[in-house]
Amino acid sequence: MDDKIICIGCGSVLQSDEINEAGYLPAKRLKDAIDTEDNDIYCQRCFRLRHYNEIMPVAIDNDDFLALLNSLAEKKALIVNVVDLFDFTNSLLSSLTRFIGNNDFILVGNKFDLFPKNSRQSKIKDWMRQEANRVGLFPKKIFLVSAKKQKNLANLISYLDKRSQEQDVYFVGMTNVGKSTLINAIINQMGDIKDLITTSRFPGTTLDKIEIPLGNSHFLVDTPGIMSENQLATRLNARDLAVISPQKPMKPATYQLRPGNTLFLAGLGRIDYLKGEPTSFTVYVARDLYVHRTKTENADEFYLKHLGELLAPPANTTNLPALKGQEFHPSVKSDLLFGGIGFITVPANCLVKIYTPNRIGLGIRRALI
Ligand code: GDP
Repeated sequence: MDDKIICIGCGSVLQSDEINEAGYLPAKRLKDAIDTEDNDIYCQRCFRLRHYNEIMPVAIDNDDFLALLNSLAEKKALIVNVVDLFDFTNSLLSSLTRFIGNNDFILVGNKFDLFPKNSRQSKIKDWMRQEANRVGLFPKKIFLVSAKKQKNLANLISYLDKRSQEQDVYFVGMTNVGKSTLINAIINQMGDIKDLITTSRFPGTTLDKIEIPLGNSHFLVDTPGIMSENQLATRLNARDLAVISPQKPMKPATYQLRPGNTLFLAGLGRIDYLKGEPTSFTVYVARDLYVHRTKTENADEFYLKHLGELLAPPANTTNLPALKGQEFHPSVKSDLLFGGIGFITVPANCLVKIYTPNRIGLGIRRALI
């Protein structure tokens, strides 16, 4: 059918049959758009997202998505894996090499604006390369950018400009890493199409492949964000997500702790200091996130009593699994990861137990800062 219209927000074909499916628009609005040949139109979901910051559920066909990724191996293309520097370990696509064949890929670390002001780029890039290598990924190049602040984009854009003379450029990434914001920023700086792609704080916003012509017979292609069980963001409502997502550079907060102390990261994370010398733990989370210190022996009771109130987010606890923990005993200075919320840097040789809902996003890595 020739009268198919694509939502300019998420790339879905507009339809008025299934309200819960991608691309839904009430029949009358869709008819108006067809009658007036209006191609500049958003589906209801994107419209609401943009105007009211409201999420509507939608089903994504996973098989289509895997087929799209697999087709990359047969094409000559440059793959751009966008990762969230604030949630790096959980946003790295370790399976990337499986589906991109012999194509080159580059890593773009986004949200660099959240790092403390004096962070050294070369150190962060080295660290990213080592972490990527550890999971079998060998990026051709690494860039650090802030899509939202439109910072550090010039080098990336000139690289993409050169490489896109001979091939299409595919952007891939987990949801919520800022892929849409980055593509918008790139388009913004490359030409005059503005705000083409829906961006939001809600994971899974980009629903279908979007091809943007580069004017040199090649395309910049935005693929759907990959949802992971390991992303806390997929379980929280918009208001809670706003509290845990840092907006300003992280300001590390240092806590002097001794064994028997516990810290709560609102109601979403917990660390017990089990064994070691009195020492300092450095907490990197959004500035508005409430951190509470208590005695480990009282921690369970405290949590049950205050969850959803003093210990919020989560404001609504019904969708969230209970906190589950794991012990760590790092032999080097390390970051303990609370995926999506932040991390806590601890010195070598301390025994700790950390908790997140059902251990989502929980992990450890060599200290970054
Ligand atoms: P996508 O799912 O990967 O397409 O992610 P979006 O582009 O929708 O962005 C997800 C969230 O991250 C939104 O709340 C954005 O405002 C935020 N975001 C995107 N880029 C940046 C950035 O460079 N810095 C910061 N601090 N936030 C960003």
